[in-house]
Amino acid sequence: MLLIYPPAARSTEPPLGIARLAGFLNRNGVPARCLDLCREGLDYLLGLELGSQDTWTRGALRRRSRNRALLRDSAAYTTPDRYRRAVFDLNRALKAVSAPFGVEAGLADYRDARRSPLRRSDLLDAAAAHEDNVFSPLFRSRIAEALSAFPAQAVGLSVNYLSQALCAFAIAGFVKTVRPDLRVVLGGSLITSWVAQGSLAADERFGGLVDAILSGRGEEGILALLDAPRRVPTAPPAFDDLVAFDYLAPTRILPYNFSTGCPWKRCSFCPETAEGVRYVGSRVGTAVQEIGALVARHAPGLLHFTDSEIAPLYLRALAASPLGVPWYGFTRFSPLLTDPDFCRSLAASGCAMLQLGLESADQRVLDALGKGTRLDQIDRALRNLAESRIGVFLYVLFGTPAEQRDAARRTRDFVASRADRIDFINVAIFNLPMASAEVPRLETRAFYEGDLSLYRAFVHPGGWNRDAVRAFLAEEFNADPAIKTILARTPPVFTSNHGA
Ligand code: SF4
Repeated sequence: MLLIYPPAARSTEPPLGIARLAGFLNRNGVPARCLDLCREGLDYLLGLELGSQDTWTRGALRRRSRNRALLRDSAAYTTPDRYRRAVFDLNRALKAVSAPFGVEAGLADYRDARRSPLRRSDLLDAAAAHEDNVFSPLFRSRIAEALSAFPAQAVGLSVNYLSQALCAFAIAGFVKTVRPDLRVVLGGSLITSWVAQGSLAADERFGGLVDAILSGRGEEGILALLDAPRRVPTAPPAFDDLVAFDYLAPTRILPYNFSTGCPWKRCSFCPETAEGVRYVGSRVGTAVQEIGALVARHAPGLLHFTDSEIAPLYLRALAASPLGVPWYGFTRFSPLLTDPDFCRSLAASGCAMLQLGLESADQRVLDALGKGTRLDQIDRALRNLAESRIGVFLYVLFGTPAEQRDAARRTRDFVASRADRIDFINVAIFNLPMASAEVPRLETRAFYEGDLSLYRAFVHPGGWNRDAVRAFLAEEFNADPAIKTILARTPPVFTSNHGA
């Protein structure tokens, strides 16, 4: 099976989803290869030539190779202005070279003026017009080359972000045109969300373009689809086709996950809760052994644990058996972090940064959201993490149904008064998931035009609507001097991927 990660998404590390499937298939006797067209697409675009442009674009194009090299140099990360200039320049260069194709392909996004990834008919149109896709010459040659190297029966496309959907369908269209004998399979977290939220049926075939939809963990359905017997229940990810690439990071970052789904799954604002995806965790011993073997084989400079939440079970295991490599990932403000000794052990185990959802600093809002956290514990956790020199990437969320302006101000004051313990911040405005339990209780309407939309717009019961929230963010939250300092050092475009 040929497993493809399509453009366009942030390219700082090899894609874990296809590496996991490749590892599992190979151990079960099905030859599988990985092709990261997202990563290759970046260099392909940076190699395109362009005619006359405005001064900034001309400069950005002239500096593209230098900027690309700069983002792989750790020295650039110690000079924020230089780093930011390189990121914005590269983004501008990518958008300029893709513009003649009617699209804007950036470092983390892909916009097509004529098509929306949220409309089934537009996805089908992208497949039919695959030759017009900006990456078409690249995927024509690379897929043909990969398929000639081994006998694949199927091509799997891992679609995790909306910015990948149109290119994934263009690739599917190309494969079905040149090799109609191959089965095309769609999977990944975007596909899972569409299926879980009911906008995509599990037996949808897009008029014969797609032969199967795999939602959730691909391992569960892939062998049945290929009619292959299961010889081993689990296997470590196989990065062999991916690690030679030079990703946009100053060190080799290796992703790994202990689990899929979320062990908490009670936060009302979160797609994990709305979609009800089953939580599946690895055995601690197996995970620690797999990570050890991957570290020995690939010598990463940083491990990225991609779990929706690294559960306390795994945090304890990491603290107890240091991996010898720095690591970062998402976790909850659990009571574990209120223990200073535990935070010191985490730091000693290599924990460089934790991504933590504060969401709100109003206890009533936290309770209404089902977050299960207490502000006094969060306060202690932030102090312990700062004392242990573990970086904090904090997530805040405004405009939830339970929030009002006074609660939002409490969040601002909480963050501002603890700015010295917060390294980076992500500020979001609440989107109501289509399948949220709150939908029947609210007055809602379509959020985006399109039959594959993931969210619904709603009328806030207290009048705290998006426009008011946006104005509050611009005038009161982002403008606070202490918060401004955190925002200024938060990596643009790459955010947490470059935080650690
Ligand atoms: S916000 Fe985090 S902890 Fe809450 S359900 Fe979602 S993934 Fe789980």
